[in-house]
Amino acid sequence: MKKVVVYPGTFDPLTNGHLEIIKRASKIFDEVIVLVAKRDEKNTLFSLEERVDIVKRCVSDITNVKVDKLEKLLVDYLREHKINLVLRGLRSNKDFEYEREMFEANKIMLKGIETIFIIAAPHTAFISSSLIKEIAFNGGDISQFVPKEVKKRLSEKLRR
Ligand code: ADP
Repeated sequence: MKKVVVYPGTFDPLTNGHLEIIKRASKIFDEVIVLVAKRDEKNTLFSLEERVDIVKRCVSDITNVKVDKLEKLLVDYLREHKINLVLRGLRSNKDFEYEREMFEANKIMLKGIETIFIIAAPHTAFISSSLIKEIAFNGGDISQFVPKEVKKRLSEKLRR
C-alpha cells in the first residue's frame, strides 16, 4: 500500500524550514501532500490562493510532493481522502506542547490517525513565517531563510 502523508500548515509564507521538512519527508513516504490551510484572510499576509501557488512553485522539482487546500477540519479531509498519516515539524518545546494537544484531539476525532514528527535541522530550526515577515517588513535580507520565489513575492507585497 502506498504510504501517503499530509503536511498541514498555514505556510504564510513557505520558508526553508518547511521546505527542509518536505524534502526529508519525500524520501520517507511514497507521497507527501502539503495541505495549505484556509485561515481568516485578515490574519494572513498572503491569500489562500497565493500561499498554494507559492508552495506549488517551490516543490515543483520534487516528483512525489503534491499541494492541496485545506478548507475544512483536518480530520474531515483525512476521512474523505482515506489518509491516516499526518506530518508536522518540531522546532522546540514550544512547538511540542501545542502539537501534543493537536495530536490528542485529532486521535479522538478520528481513530487510526497517526502523527509523525520530524525534528527541524539546526540551521533552519529558528525560522518561522512570522520572523521572516518581521525581517522583510523592516528592510532586512531574507535570502538565506526562504526560497527565491518567496523573496520575490514578499518584495512585491511590500511595494504595494
Ligand atoms: P501552523 O499554523 O499550522 O503551525 P506553519 O506554517 O507555521 O503552520 O507550520 C506548519 C508546520 O511546519 C508545523 O508543524 C510547524 O511546526 C512546522 N515548521 C514551521 N517552521 C519550521 C521550521 N523552521 N523547521 C521545521 N518545521 C517547521
